[in-house]
Amino acid sequence: MATFDLVVRGKLVLENEVASGEIGVKNGKVETVSRERGTLTGARELDFGASYVFPGFIDAHVHCFSNPQEGFIATSAAAAAGGVTTFFDMPYDLPHPVNHLEQFKRKVAQLEQEAMVDICLWGTIAKTGGTDQIIPLAEAGAVAFKMSTFETDAYRFPRIPDSEILKAMELIQSTGLVAAFHSENDEIIADLIAEYKKANKVYPRAHMETRPPVTETSAVLKLMEFAYWTGVKLHIVHVSHPRTIDLIKLFRNLGVHVTCETCYPYLLLDVRALDEFGPKAKNNPPLRNPEEVRGLWEHLHAGHIDMITSDHAPWGAEHKDIGKENIFLAASGLPGVEIIGPLMFDSTVAKGRLTPVQFARLMSQNPAEVFQIPGKGKIAVGYDADFAVINPEEKWTLDETKFRSRSKMSPFHGKQVQGKVVHTIVRGTTVFDGQEITVTPGFGHFVPGAAVKKSASGRM
Ligand SMILES: [Zn+2]
Repeated sequence: MATFDLVVRGKLVLENEVASGEIGVKNGKVETVSRERGTLTGARELDFGASYVFPGFIDAHVHCFSNPQEGFIATSAAAAAGGVTTFFDMPYDLPHPVNHLEQFKRKVAQLEQEAMVDICLWGTIAKTGGTDQIIPLAEAGAVAFKMSTFETDAYRFPRIPDSEILKAMELIQSTGLVAAFHSENDEIIADLIAEYKKANKVYPRAHMETRPPVTETSAVLKLMEFAYWTGVKLHIVHVSHPRTIDLIKLFRNLGVHVTCETCYPYLLLDVRALDEFGPKAKNNPPLRNPEEVRGLWEHLHAGHIDMITSDHAPWGAEHKDIGKENIFLAASGLPGVEIIGPLMFDSTVAKGRLTPVQFARLMSQNPAEVFQIPGKGKIAVGYDADFAVINPEEKWTLDETKFRSRSKMSPFHGKQVQGKVVHTIVRGTTVFDGQEITVTPGFGHFVPGAAVKKSASGRM
């Protein structure tokens, strides 16, 4: 008689080791982990042979609604096909950002109708006068708060003034949640872009030249000092430059709780991709010089980077192609939730640059721990049965036209990749069988942030 709902066999990537064994799943959770095969029986049994069974990847940085045509359905299908079992959706939605309790509730309701993997939701605040929403958003289940020191859009994605940042940090500190920042100096960039436009210097590389490294490093420096005085947990999103990590290390030693992420394009591309692909390779902050990319890798190997995210931005050709003659007109950001897992596997584990255990920490365990998501991020007893299965030998060619995202614009189009996502499981249910998405919209859950659990137990 079957003891488990599901038994999964393969090379299990556990917290501290890779074991050829099997996992017994019941009611969507891992009930036992065996370091040998053939001891467990299940109503359903999946044998992945020599493929790695990773904890499902957690992508903490995704923008479903920067392009409202994308939404949860396309992005969560893309996530499932990429081995991402939980993602965190950013708050900079069109037309209205998630800076208000009512907007947050509407988004949760939509998520529950449409999600096909599990999803956490970021909150944010209005440019000014919006900090009164922080506690209500935390209590409603926001996973963390995102703000920006750069003005992408005065309403949807504003630059928050220092006075409001400081107030926000104090309030966020009281919730125990993380305050995360897009960190670029607005004044210097705006000035340089105006200068470049005036001189008609609108070639692709102008995008990098108008956002020099000092615009990132100096913005981060200020935020870390604010975090010191407020005691908030600070997270720096999409770090593009190694010096930013040097500064983060200094401030960690000075007692600031600061974590950081980089995104797969900053590790896998450099500014030459901007010359080659133009708007397709435009993101903020921009791609950097090759020696700076090498510096990021050194920090990654040294364990100074907490996680790798996609910063999935689902722009269509209509948002990108307008920048072919003038780079400043193109939207910033690349799609990535479907390809981050295999591309990072190809460049790390497949090349012997990271062990599978180190890879799982960056892609699953650390994001769950930094953002305090209990029950996710590890293959361990009591955790959700979320798995990303990668065949390490399978070679394939990345094809942007096949993306499940509405965005089919990738500088990685045509790249040979070693390591393919052959199966994705969320809470014990197959969401991707290697070919097709196997669940319908509404299967995915809203995963509330840690403040909710705290307030339920009366500690907030
Ligand atoms: Zn982003």
